[in-house]
Amino acid sequence: MLMLFILVSFPDARFYIDPHTYEDPCQAVHEFAREIEASRIKIEKIIGSGEFGEVCYGRMRLPGKRDIPVALKTLKAGYTEKQKRDFLAEASIMAQFDHPNVIRLEGVVTQSKPAMIITEYMENGSLDSFLRRHDGQFTIIQLVGLLRGIAAGMTYLSDLGYIHRDLAARNILVNSNLVCKVSDFGLSRVLEDDPDAAYTTSGGKIPIRWTAPEAIAYRKFSSSSDVWSYGVVMWEVTSYGERPYWNLTNRDVIKSVEEGYRLPAPMGCPGPLHTLMLDCWQKDRNERPRFCQIVTVLDKLIRNPENLKSMDTLCSLNSPSLMERAIPDFSSCNSVNEWLDTIKMGRYKDHFAAGGYQTLGHVISMNQGDIQRLGVTLMGHQKKIMTSVQLMRAQVLNKSVPSVHV
Ligand code: AMP
Repeated sequence: MLMLFILVSFPDARFYIDPHTYEDPCQAVHEFAREIEASRIKIEKIIGSGEFGEVCYGRMRLPGKRDIPVALKTLKAGYTEKQKRDFLAEASIMAQFDHPNVIRLEGVVTQSKPAMIITEYMENGSLDSFLRRHDGQFTIIQLVGLLRGIAAGMTYLSDLGYIHRDLAARNILVNSNLVCKVSDFGLSRVLEDDPDAAYTTSGGKIPIRWTAPEAIAYRKFSSSSDVWSYGVVMWEVTSYGERPYWNLTNRDVIKSVEEGYRLPAPMGCPGPLHTLMLDCWQKDRNERPRFCQIVTVLDKLIRNPENLKSMDTLCSLNSPSLMERAIPDFSSCNSVNEWLDTIKMGRYKDHFAAGGYQTLGHVISMNQGDIQRLGVTLMGHQKKIMTSVQLMRAQVLNKSVPSVHV
């Protein structure tokens, strides 16, 4: 009845169909996805491991076309019927999507073993490890470009009525053109597979650090709870793959968020981006922006990059208790090398030694020019080091931290 109402009222509206409403998963998958003959596939190497088996890189030959690089997810031998159903469910979901920021399904192999899900190949792998490999190496505009893509993909998915429930940098893939695509469309796997998921008191398994309070408390998942997770992805991106809430326990994360604390702006993160994150983390889900509004805000920032220049780092001074726990206490660092390791800038140890910076006492008097003169050329690294120097100085002087202008 509801569907009839929707179809009559919004004839152009398209909704995604939950494959679990089909009794036979093979029927569901063939409703949406094309079967590919195994002989068209050449597996070349293993690139990862998924819940159901290995993930491989390979090439797919299509009649009359050049072969194309693909990623292949395999279903390992000895699977149960439920595993097969869940494995194929992801393909059935993916097959319904068609958007440049959502991973594209090429097809499935179900008529021979092993069963495979074939998707476009994403050269740079998952976003979290990609960012960690390139710590500090992108401009803010490039980072906003990545985020814009994710928000566009999520706008498309939420318009189709699809709720992701596990939006996190580890579930975004990056191709060679730095285009981000939303991936990981399992349903039950969201609750069972994710290493970051933990059991809640209500019995569900949820990736606590990425999940909105109402979804943790009473499993109220919605596009608005996806927006909360998107805010956490923004934070992951602007901190180059830092773990949200660092080493706080899940219990402390839930408690801190409940008490109103929010993740501070990562070092060098422009104020408007942190403001957008805070909007995504509004307690009242109706107050959070919608994905299409997020795209609009990011587009404006990309068009007017001067708005991204205000380096209101550490704007989180209004949440001191989380800050105290979160930001490294530099008093525990005994040497310049230890400090550089703490801020993940260990690669500059020789530069500091050659520049004569032997003690932290020397370091805290450094300015931006001094850092450049040491030969730190990457802007992101200069900012990271400078912000840390300022923070150390503030900790030593035991006074509030100034904002950084670089
Ligand atoms: P998943 O089971 O989807 O989490 O995949 C496991 C890992 O395989 C991911 O973390 C990626 O590193 C890699 N992977 C999955 N799909 C692709 C793809 N389409 N292109 C490149 N790498 C992929």
